[in-house]
Amino acid sequence: MVAKKPAPGKPDVKECRTCKGTGEVARPVRVGRKRRVVGEQNGLCLGCMGSGEASTD
Ligand SMILES: [Zn+2]
Repeated sequence: MVAKKPAPGKPDVKECRTCKGTGEVARPVRVGRKRRVVGEQNGLCLGCMGSGEASTD
């Protein structure tokens, strides 16, 4: 007989709200001293550092 242990499972991971779980966000690209916006590029989401998971602490 084996005592049934609760499954280890994953910690409760929530999607990062900033990037919606993708780990990337579109950010404006600025150049020069006037900070003219020349376009957008995907950058690492600083909310989750690219993991796509909202940090709980
Ligand atoms: Zn994120």
